[in-house]
Amino acid sequence: MSPRVAVVGAGPVGLFQALALHQAGIEPVVLERRTEPHRGSRSIGIHPPSLEALEALDLVEPFLAAGVQVRRGHAVGDGAPIGTVDFTRCGGRYPFVLALPQHRTEALLEAALAERVPGALRRGAEVRSLEARDDAVSLDTASGPLEVDWVVACDGRRSRVRELLGIPFAVEAYEGEYGMEDHPDQTPYGDDAAVFLTEAGLVESFPLPGGGRRWVARTDGAPLRDTIRARTGFELPADGSTSSFRAERGLAGTFVRGRVVLGGDAAHVVSPIGGQGMNLGWLGANRITRALGLAMRGEPDALARDARVRRRMAKAAARRAEANMWLGRPTAQGVWRERLVGALMRRPLVDGLARAFTMRGLRWGV
Ligand SMILES: Cc1cc2nc3c(=O)[nH]c(=O)nc-3n(C[C@H](O)[C@H](O)[C@H](O)COP(=O)(O)OP(=O)(O)OC[C@H]3O[C@@H](n4cnc5c(N)ncnc54)[C@H](O)[C@@H]3O)c2cc1C
Repeated sequence: MSPRVAVVGAGPVGLFQALALHQAGIEPVVLERRTEPHRGSRSIGIHPPSLEALEALDLVEPFLAAGVQVRRGHAVGDGAPIGTVDFTRCGGRYPFVLALPQHRTEALLEAALAERVPGALRRGAEVRSLEARDDAVSLDTASGPLEVDWVVACDGRRSRVRELLGIPFAVEAYEGEYGMEDHPDQTPYGDDAAVFLTEAGLVESFPLPGGGRRWVARTDGAPLRDTIRARTGFELPADGSTSSFRAERGLAGTFVRGRVVLGGDAAHVVSPIGGQGMNLGWLGANRITRALGLAMRGEPDALARDARVRRRMAKAAARRAEANMWLGRPTAQGVWRERLVGALMRRPLVDGLARAFTMRGLRWGV
């Protein structure tokens, strides 16, 4: 069967999108610029609504086998514990956040796609230009031309497809610079997460599969190792290489232009602090699949209708991430923030915090 939909980009969202389309009976082709998988360090947190989405794709088992189930998060102030967020109190089939590095997530999705739709992923197929007409979309790619009925652009924050269509992307950079390193775990936290809310700024620490631990801190340019030592007392091994990033939010002017739909980071970027971007893209991909199905059955407005919901979801996720960043700001008002966090750690507020952190209640349903 010739593909009716081209997914541009084989990041986590594009691969998930292709699997969801296939499950809905729509044959996809995935066009990826890179010839090899990307191994850079980015997302690790997979939240309960996403685990349910993976279950619906009959894919959750390999993820559970590969990741660490994080059931509790400890908040620590300057030298003293403030409280614990218990994700298991949120209930549901997956009462935890699954920690799995993004390159392993992508490898699992790619393997599933290769098995279910052999040949669907075309690497070395950068999309260079496109012509969107009323009845079809013509793509010029590094591996040759292609004509499809629809395009879902999951080509990331710097989306070429978005640029080719002239869709504006409003980006807002947050203050501060962050550093991130992965190391063997030398803390007593085991499979739990820990968030250090110190007067000097935020440190987040998450378990990784295989006895590792990720450290993320707002460094504002200082060496990560010194920052972690000063704020937490933990000493990182000296051989680490720091990935630095700045947090930002971004929103495309429109998520749908004719027969082209924007998904994942191409449509919306939320701050990595709080770890929601990939999850947001996956839950959006499920919505796109359903709306595309309706559009193919003669309801062209379904895509625009759905885009309005996705836009609201993206704004809500960005607000939640901003609350995380606010808690992590260096401030002279540390005592007040600690009191606020201390209050948040008491029931019932702490259960609300657990729900917010695990991306519940954002009305993902399709
Ligand atoms: C430090 C950090 C930590 C993060 N932690 C988390 C977390 O814990 N949880 C979470 O949910 N999110 C997290 N995120 C966000 C997450 O990494 C992104 O939201 C996610 O990668 C977006 O996936 P995507 O598939 O939309 O885009 P991308 O991952 O950017 O993939 C885009 C793909 O498109 C390809 N491409 C680009 N242009 C073209 C073209 N012209 N033709 C063909 N292919 C093209 C690229 O090569 C790439 O493979 C984090 C981000 C950062 C920076």
